[in-house]
Amino acid sequence: MSRNIAVAAPEFSGNEWRYVRECIETSWVSSIGRFITEFEAALANYLEVDHVVVTNNGTTALHLSLVALGVGPGDEVIVPTLTYVATANAATYCGATPVLVDVDPHTMLIDPDEVRRRIGPRTKAVVPVHLYGHGADMESLSAVVGERGIPLVEDAAEAFGARVAGRRAGSIGACGTFSFFGNKIITTGEGGAVTTRDGRLAERLRLYRGQGMGDQRYWFPVVGYNYRMTNVAAAIGMAQLEQVDKKLDRRREIAAAYDRLLGDADGVATPAAPPWSESVHWLYTVQVDVERAEQRDEIARRLAADGIESRPVFYPMHQMPPYFQADGHFPNADRLAARGLSLPTHTLLDEQDITWVSERLLHHVRAVRNGS
Ligand SMILES: *Cc1c(COP(=O)(O)O)cnc(C)c1O
Repeated sequence: MSRNIAVAAPEFSGNEWRYVRECIETSWVSSIGRFITEFEAALANYLEVDHVVVTNNGTTALHLSLVALGVGPGDEVIVPTLTYVATANAATYCGATPVLVDVDPHTMLIDPDEVRRRIGPRTKAVVPVHLYGHGADMESLSAVVGERGIPLVEDAAEAFGARVAGRRAGSIGACGTFSFFGNKIITTGEGGAVTTRDGRLAERLRLYRGQGMGDQRYWFPVVGYNYRMTNVAAAIGMAQLEQVDKKLDRRREIAAAYDRLLGDADGVATPAAPPWSESVHWLYTVQVDVERAEQRDEIARRLAADGIESRPVFYPMHQMPPYFQADGHFPNADRLAARGLSLPTHTLLDEQDITWVSERLLHHVRAVRNGS
């Protein structure tokens, strides 16, 4: 049996071609055009917020949020050590220091108690990450930052459409950020968005996104950035958004199938979604019961030989050169990162694929644990 199963894959089964063709035919291919305004309005409606500012990727969405909130040199931004590097980098781009905190040993999500411990006089923002499509504990986090008035910037890049205690991920903090990279829940090729309920903040986001130009054309009161999305990208995004609920239903089915096939198996722990989270299962991520990361990597190699792509859990920030901490104490992230493996999770998978992936995973876990 030879199949090639990717860990992630975009699905284009709607109006993508039609909308992109319209951009070319009307020649609105840069950052002016009907799809930009319509995509922002449709996103605001779907994500249950008042304002959406689309950007050219998820990293610039994060950077733009911190800039608009006034984060600058000397400030500290609290981020989980277990995340994609963009979360920490966005703080670094501002000249601020990302302050790393450990995550919950089961959910992999930022630990609010750790956040409380690391808040100091320089803390300018906290960036919880809704990792792998699961909602972080926004209620506890809001309580932790609330009395100090520190803004929460939700990194919802992996959690488009998720709900946290009934509210959309990305609609709860001062702002929320999304990515529309090709492997995310919906894609625009490269793209991103910032959400907020604060009209003044939305204005600042637009100012800094558009090179610092306000209402007066070619007058630049601040040093801004060119972080605009193209109309072509927004056209793809509109088509993707029209089908997002179907995509999310399919992801739920896939996660349920993996749960069924792997839930009771020896040697593999399935993802522990927190009770407040209605998750979107961006990447179905298991913990394999091995001693060392090298054994996890060997399992991944054997899966690859079967034509099954998988992915190690993100390396924690404190392990990598830009954010290395020799004396860092992040036992949960270390443990999760050494044993975590993300399995193929996308809407083009069928039941046979999921069964095959699960069978091969269990086979290789057993073999590697037995030293064979
Ligand atoms: C994908 C991702 C981003 C950044 O998105 P890009 O569009 O690739 O710049 C940020 N944070 C997290 C957690 C992500 O997964």
